[in-house]
Amino acid sequence: MSKIALVTGGTRGIGLGIAIELAKAGFDLAINGIRDESLVKSILDELTNYGVEVAYFPGDVSEKEDRQQMVDEIVNRFGKINVLINNAGIAPPERKDILEATEASFDHVLNVNLRGPYFLTQLVAKRMIETMQQLINEFFCIINISSISATVASVNRGEYCISKAGIAMATKLWAARLGEFGIPVYEIQPGVIHTDMTAGVQEKYDLLFKNGLAIQQRWGVPSDIGKVAAAMATGSMPYSTGQVVLVDGGMTIPRL
Ligand code: NAP
Repeated sequence: MSKIALVTGGTRGIGLGIAIELAKAGFDLAINGIRDESLVKSILDELTNYGVEVAYFPGDVSEKEDRQQMVDEIVNRFGKINVLINNAGIAPPERKDILEATEASFDHVLNVNLRGPYFLTQLVAKRMIETMQQLINEFFCIINISSISATVASVNRGEYCISKAGIAMATKLWAARLGEFGIPVYEIQPGVIHTDMTAGVQEKYDLLFKNGLAIQQRWGVPSDIGKVAAAMATGSMPYSTGQVVLVDGGMTIPRL
């Protein structure tokens, strides 16, 4: 029986790293992003090379209609969603000190990073519960990609930190609500990962890593996250709902 994973923001960076590891684990993939399909065709082809079915469902996770259309189309195409990976997210378009940052940026970041995945989870969880009535032996789970910014304060991107702290609570809430249905909800908190999102701060972090920012002295890469997500999605953490796995090279361990 095929297993279907929806990866939001699966077209590059961490989401693509997760999609690759899930494809290696045999998942058929529903990939979401905001760009037109013509611009991501080569990425979809790369994923198809793992011998799984791949389809693209463009849409903005912060838009209610887009979320509804995406889920309807995925269920029409694949019949179900076994695993939802809430990965799509943005940094504030401009990093601004919290004494200066705008309400517009706050709303934008919170809509994409928190309201979107929170209500996408609501939509997909209901489908999972319905599907379980027919497919009683299948495994379903939800994985949130938050950040160490859920707990580490950066005063030049307060709205991002708040959005990720919100996702951390959403993980606990959905874990508590979906427990009776046997749907675990997990969270991964990446540290500093080499993607387009961090391209603008490459030199800064090259130096910080060299000077011991993390215990493991390198940038994180998308496959570091993908491997943990694959362990969760394949049921290798069966008694750990609501838990957080840090993938940060030990960066957040307090040291003297
Ligand atoms: P990225 O390289 O900028 O990729 C972002 C992805 O999200 C792209 O696939 C993009 O689609 C998609 N996306 C953006 N806005 C969207 C929207 N409104 N609706 C649907 N899809 C949208 O980012 P990343 O570094 O891989 O980050 C992925 C996740 O990890 C984010 O939630 C981020 O906060 C989190 N994270 C990243 C780091 C890091 O160091 N990079 C650290 C901790 C946590 P298109 O390709 O179509 O633009």
